[in-house]
Amino acid sequence: MTRALIDLDAIAHNTRLLARAATGSEVMAVVKADGFGHGAVPVARTALAHGASWLGVTSLREALELRSAGITAPILMWLYAPFEILDEAVLADIDVSVSSTAALETLARAAERTGRTATAHLKADTGLSRGGATSAEWPDLLATAAKFRDAGLLAIRAVWSHLQHAEDPGDPGLLRQLEAFGRARDEAHGAGIDAPLTHLANSAAVLQLPETHFDLVRPGIALYGAEPVPGRVFGLRPAMTLESTVILTKRVGPGTGVSYGPEFVTERETTLALVPAGYADGVPRSIGDRASVTIAGVRCPIVGRVAMDQVVVDAGDLPVVAGDRVVIFGSGANGEPTVSDWAGWAGTNAHEILTGIGTRVPRVHYSGESPNETSSRSPSRPVECAEMTPS
Ligand SMILES: *Cc1c(COP(=O)(O)O)cnc(C)c1O
Repeated sequence: MTRALIDLDAIAHNTRLLARAATGSEVMAVVKADGFGHGAVPVARTALAHGASWLGVTSLREALELRSAGITAPILMWLYAPFEILDEAVLADIDVSVSSTAALETLARAAERTGRTATAHLKADTGLSRGGATSAEWPDLLATAAKFRDAGLLAIRAVWSHLQHAEDPGDPGLLRQLEAFGRARDEAHGAGIDAPLTHLANSAAVLQLPETHFDLVRPGIALYGAEPVPGRVFGLRPAMTLESTVILTKRVGPGTGVSYGPEFVTERETTLALVPAGYADGVPRSIGDRASVTIAGVRCPIVGRVAMDQVVVDAGDLPVVAGDRVVIFGSGANGEPTVSDWAGWAGTNAHEILTGIGTRVPRVHYSGESPNETSSRSPSRPVECAEMTPS
């Protein structure tokens, strides 16, 4: 019924586009949160075949899932507690981000226990105030890292940081972060740490801030085809189509309350179409009366409150029947909304919509022809429902 079609050709296209934008730098495909909801393993394989050479994840569990699938490319993980046991990371050859001396100790102990050298990426906090060592903590982190390196426990592969706001090239905060990053690198050099890699850029920075590229770039959202800079189009292709099916229709008169509340009451006779996709599937409850979908290629509004498992679409006088295909979002090529439209309706970003697609929604990966080619708009049909609310 409700399923997410994942176009691996779009992932390939986006990876190539990002690799071209960052010519001279390596590309780390960020596949955290199950590849932003697209399936980490198939996305990783596709990205690695089309220009990425690294993978980025948050947790050890995510990193080990990639290794279990037989993926041997370098992987960086960056979120864990300093009391987590990192032996498995070291044994599976996972690079580990380090933001504190406590975390360095943990990693060094894992190296001791496993008899291997652990690989660290030292993270500087250049203004985001999340992970990373502050400028006050940085010298201590460097000294401790050098000590463990000299003891043969650690290899220091990178100095890195993360940007606060890469969407606006003129943002003074961006300049401050770049300066802070430069100081952190100089201090590392001064402390005798010459890490082979430096990395900073997320999607928006890859596409519009060459001064942030350094040796390696870390795109996430752009891989999946959502344009990361408001108002700019770089030619990315959305990879996910969230589709469903009309399972019931009914003709109702004026004054009919729809869904819980009700927050919507029909003004005239109309056809309501029931679609089995709700907030448990990733349709945000916060869309108010702004959202629409396509039914058999025609844009129609969602009416009434989004429930856990279903929404009601006002199809007006369209000849909608059970079995008609519903596109919740897709590439936009056939008149359907995009994930960015949904992000706008829900007052959030595309990242949250994509990672919110529920686990009960099957992901269907394909390349070449879409498994559902019925999406093109039939010329005999109108483009919008009569009752379409402006969006
Ligand atoms: C999520 C993440 C990225 C990717 O960010 P996008 O804006 O989605 O490109 C890069 N680096 C780090 C550290 C992240 O957490």
